[in-house]
Order: sequence, then C-alpha cells, then structure tokens
Amino acid sequence: MTEPIAKLSFWGVRGSTPTVDPATWRYGGNTPCLELIAPDGTQFILDCGTGLRMLGSRWAAPNSGKAPETHILVTHYHWDHIQGIPFFSPLYAENNEFHFYSFRSRFLGRDSLKQVFETQMALPYFPVNVSAMNAKRKFKEMDGGDSFKVGQNKVTARWLNHPQGCLGFRIETPAGTVTYATDNEPGDAQLDESLLELAAGADILINDAQFTPEQLATKRKGWGHSSWLEGAKMARQAGVKTLVLFHHDPDSTDRMVDSILRQAREEFASVYAASEGMVITLGAPGDQVQAHMPGTRTALRREAQFHAKVCGVTEGGKDFEEETMVRDISLQGALISLTHLPRLQSELQVTMEAPGPDGVQAMNLRGYVVRIDAGPEKGHVAVGVVFTD
Ligand SMILES: [Zn+2]
Ligand SMILES: [Zn+2]
Repeated sequence: MTEPIAKLSFWGVRGSTPTVDPATWRYGGNTPCLELIAPDGTQFILDCGTGLRMLGSRWAAPNSGKAPETHILVTHYHWDHIQGIPFFSPLYAENNEFHFYSFRSRFLGRDSLKQVFETQMALPYFPVNVSAMNAKRKFKEMDGGDSFKVGQNKVTARWLNHPQGCLGFRIETPAGTVTYATDNEPGDAQLDESLLELAAGADILINDAQFTPEQLATKRKGWGHSSWLEGAKMARQAGVKTLVLFHHDPDSTDRMVDSILRQAREEFASVYAASEGMVITLGAPGDQVQAHMPGTRTALRREAQFHAKVCGVTEGGKDFEEETMVRDISLQGALISLTHLPRLQSELQVTMEAPGPDGVQAMNLRGYVVRIDAGPEKGHVAVGVVFTD
C-alpha cells in the first residue's frame, strides 16, 4: 500500500508588499500564497497575495470528471493577503468552483470577504468589475475556534494577534498536519495559548518571521508580527516537527534571511526559510518532511568540468569535506555532484581549480544550497548552489 502524500507549495512568501529588488530574488518577492494538496486530492489555498497569480498561471484543468474542490482560506484583509485575487485567472473560467473562507470583519459586517472582492475590483480601481469573474464562488464565514471537514481533512481556525484581526489555520490531512500562523504578534497570553493549541504536534508550522527579535522588542512592537526566535520557541513548545519562517520583511535581503535562518537553526533542529517555489512533501517514506526548490529559478547552463573541494554541513548536521567535479557552472551558481547530502538552504565552501593565464588557480566561492536531486551516478546527489559572493 502506498503512503498518503500531501504536497505543500509556496507561491508567495514576502510580507507587506511585493519586492522586485534583485537582492530579494532568491527567497522571492510575491506576497503570501500557499497551496496544500491533500492525499484525497482536495486543494487548499492559503491566502491570496500576489503569489496567487503564479498559481493561477500553472492551473491544471482536470482531464475528465469532476474538478477537485478548491478551498481558499483567507487569514485577513490586509493588502498583501488579497492582492492576487483580481489576477487569479481561474476565477474568470465558468467551470471552476471555489469555496472561500474568512471572518466577519467589524469594519465590514456580513459577507466581509465578498465585499472585499467587490471593493477591490470596483471602478476605478480595476478595469473590469467583479461580474467579469465567471467561476462559481461560495463564501463562508469562520470565527476563531470554528472547524470543518472536507473529504478526509479537517480545518480549524483560531484568532491571532494582529491589527483588525487575523485567523490562523490548522489543516489535518492523513499525510500530516500543517499549521499556518502568519501575521501574528506574540505577547497576548490568551492568543499565545490558542496558537500553541493550533500548532500542537504539527508536522509543519509556518510562522510569521518578519522582524528580528531586536526590532520586535523595540520599534516594531505593536505592528502585529513575530520573529524567528518566537517561532522557534513556539515550535519547541508545541512539539512541531519542522518550522518554516514566513512573511519575510520587504526590506530583508536574501543575505539577511540567510542570517535569520542560520540563527533559527541554532535554536531549533528542523527549520527552513520559506522560499518562492519551495515544495514540502508530507508523509513521504519514513515520515520525513522533504523540501525541494524549483529548477527554473536556478537554471544554470554552462557545461564545464572543474575539479573542486567542497565543505559543508549534511542534512544530519555533520561537517563534511569532499573532492568532486563541478559540471554546470555560471556566474550565479553551479551544479555539483556529491556523495554527501548537504542540508537544503545551507552554505557550502567551494574551492575550484580553474585554468587561468598563469596555470591552474584556486578560486574560493561561497555557495548556498537551493536544490538537491538524485545524481546521474549511483550514490551521488546533484546539488544546485547559488554563489553568494
Ligand atoms: Zn501580511
Ligand atoms: Zn496583516
């Protein structure tokens, strides 16, 4: 019998506003949007930030039969969580059907999310109004503490601590449990306790990590966000398997997120920084959480052969050193064949012997592991790195 598998994809990971600054490309600049495909085929979309447009452009229409149900959970109505809605092409196709869930805002009253749709597409803010959307849309209000079942899955909502309100969601599937807690400021005892319950024993906790612990304690106190340190504390207390740092600050460069991730990994064993295109598989053999990064963002194409020495850290946290050949190389990165399995999102020191005018010269580069695949040779993995200096 095959094990049930769930697939969690990150389409947008940036907080507050999209970024196109080249210094943020590695983690990505689209605002929050996640997709969880449960083992029974039920599709959940978490938040409708600008990442939703990308999800829509890859929309796979079913070949035959009934389309799988899509359930869209919206945490709250701040721009960065709704901005992708008008640009989500499947909403314009008649045969699609979507179930939307969010809360009744005290500023909007009944049918809050429906009103958000209509208002954000009202003239003159958008070229066409909401009647151009032909897909069937059903709206359901959720309150903190509510839960419902879809197929074999259970969704639970709890209030988080954020200006004008925000819901955190827990989705339990036969392959594992994901808790999504973005836009949350710790420090309210009752809501902290509530999040602890929402995250209890989860395989994945996606937690707001917008600010540094220093910012959170000083000038960003009261802005409704959290830090990697609070995420690590919550993950430990709740007995979570893997923590994913999310909602990166628009002013955080890739280097800054690297440093945040490094610090978080000193506090908690299994941590990733959410990265656009990252896919996490739940329920894989051995009950492992597996993360993969996209190929397209690291397309490196220059056939070459350099002898190299590589130092790094394995998935199990051990230092390693290995001699190998670097095959595909560009100014931005390389594809390296290794017998050791380095940790995804860790640093590798790559010393390459490159032929120069004065003979072979050693070149020291710092690489960052963005992708790991099965290698062409048995016992090897193909490791994609991006050079960071
Ligand atoms: Zn946000
Ligand atoms: Zn917000």
